[in-house]
Amino acid sequence: TVQVLSDLEIAQQATLQPIADIAEAAGVPAAAFEPYGKFKAKLNVEQIPDTGRRGQVVLVSAVSPTPAGEGKSTLTVGLADSLSRAFSQDGSGRRAMIALREPSLGPTLGMKGGATGGGYSQVLPMEEINLHFTGDFHAITTANNALCALIDNHIYQGNALNIDPRRITFKRVLDMNDRALREVVIGLGGPTQGVPRQDGFDITVASEIMAVFCLSKNLEELKERIGRITFGYDYQRKPLTVAELGVEGALTLLLKEALKPNLVQTIAGTPALVHGGPFANIAHGCNSVIATSLARRLADVVVTEAGFGADLGAEKYLDITSRAADIAPDAVVLVATVRALKMHGGLAKSELSTPNLAALQKGVANLERHIANVRQFGLDPVISINRFSADSAEELDWLVSWCESQQVAVAVADVWGRGGGGDGGDELAAKVLKALATPNQFDHLYPLDLPVKEKIELIAGQIYRASQVEFAPAALKRLAEIEANGWNSLPVCIAKTQYSFSDDATLLGAPSGFTLHVRDLVPKTGAGFVVALTGAVMTMPGLPKIPAALAMNVDAQGRAVGLS
Ligand code: ADP
Repeated sequence: TVQVLSDLEIAQQATLQPIADIAEAAGVPAAAFEPYGKFKAKLNVEQIPDTGRRGQVVLVSAVSPTPAGEGKSTLTVGLADSLSRAFSQDGSGRRAMIALREPSLGPTLGMKGGATGGGYSQVLPMEEINLHFTGDFHAITTANNALCALIDNHIYQGNALNIDPRRITFKRVLDMNDRALREVVIGLGGPTQGVPRQDGFDITVASEIMAVFCLSKNLEELKERIGRITFGYDYQRKPLTVAELGVEGALTLLLKEALKPNLVQTIAGTPALVHGGPFANIAHGCNSVIATSLARRLADVVVTEAGFGADLGAEKYLDITSRAADIAPDAVVLVATVRALKMHGGLAKSELSTPNLAALQKGVANLERHIANVRQFGLDPVISINRFSADSAEELDWLVSWCESQQVAVAVADVWGRGGGGDGGDELAAKVLKALATPNQFDHLYPLDLPVKEKIELIAGQIYRASQVEFAPAALKRLAEIEANGWNSLPVCIAKTQYSFSDDATLLGAPSGFTLHVRDLVPKTGAGFVVALTGAVMTMPGLPKIPAALAMNVDAQGRAVGLS
């Protein structure tokens, strides 16, 4: 395929349908429809009658990502478009819908770019979704920081709760990559400026408010979960919750409009709910359960994405998200590219455009590991090879026959170049429909009553293939606190580099026999999981040497330039 236009140019040239038309075709009643401009709308879930329909869920994940790019969002959008196309051709009247995360401004301005798909498989309006959208992340940031302000004010006003300022675990957030804010001292300037203490910032997408926002089924549950958040400890080391501070009502009020899912459309006109957006490396990695559950009520097949590789996004979806709501997947798609697998086979990024079967044959070990991992959950993945123009026929043929030799369904897709609305994903859609028609034996990896330490060891051993887990002294202390506070039955959300199965970003392919280093644990009692921080992973990323912002601009007519 030859494609000369950038993602942004394709998006700017696309003709969008009025969002009211998209909503109507998706079966959204007028009472539930709240337009935000011409091409975005919020949906009031309470106004959508439950007809009992529960669409099937397709979870899209991938091999371990590389800087070469795998195209998960592109494939998620393209697959849903291809399914819509198949449903209009077979006359069944079935509907497909997308549930996707909202992009974070951190990576948009930093290295990775936006998150609306690519080529002819994008959700639109691309510029608006990537830049502020309907303001949900600002609302989440504000609710988070309102809690911080209320905590510091409580201490300043006499500290009735006896909060130990050295043991406040709830941090301020910003939807930005800003390494200078990782560690800060606040309250300087004398008695009337507050009580000085050490604080820090995380990126909004790693915050517990984002997690509870994405795991709650409705406003009531959101309020309960916010009330359960442990924000720190008192001088007797007793955990303190937001409910004790009495502000869960105010914080939920700040989030009430944001909690309504956002409806947009793909280039091909497929409806998409784009809502919530925790990162999959440092958070649980999937859009809101409200959006996915609503999509299941409106459509027959819902395509949703679990970020990064299947060791992170898919594991967390299957062990955390699918326990929070009734949205277990009916099929899993693993996106692989010849380029990424060649990098896992040892090639440098600059060498990927040259055919190299030997590197592909070596790097396929990464895909093999992810297939085995998904099978551990009782699900048989469909492999979607995202075709790049530099892929040789020989490489593609070899990869397809390798998949067949593993008894795993496979399709080469070109939804980036030809669009899922065109015929670029027809074969993939057919394979996915076949997988959806086949019953699976889905089960979680671990039972909840396993202690947190053993859950971490189980994931490290069975999914990452570490030979041992080393807990730093701080982490061991936290484990004792977790047990003492009765939090051992929470699932774990491992924060780890996305580039490797290990906690070392440079160990590509399918490493085994390594040590996983857990440096600290953060109980998130509102979200209902314990975060295990491994290796050097950061909950506030930094910007790269050449941030994407350097190429971005806006012209006099207000059109974006250089957004990717
Ligand atoms: P992910 O979700 O895995 O991070 P995206 O879908 O956001 O990946 O795609 C990342 C970038 O790669 C986008 O700019 C997209 O246009 C590009 N891309 C995706 N698939 C292809 C392809 N088949 N050929 C060329 N570029 C692609």
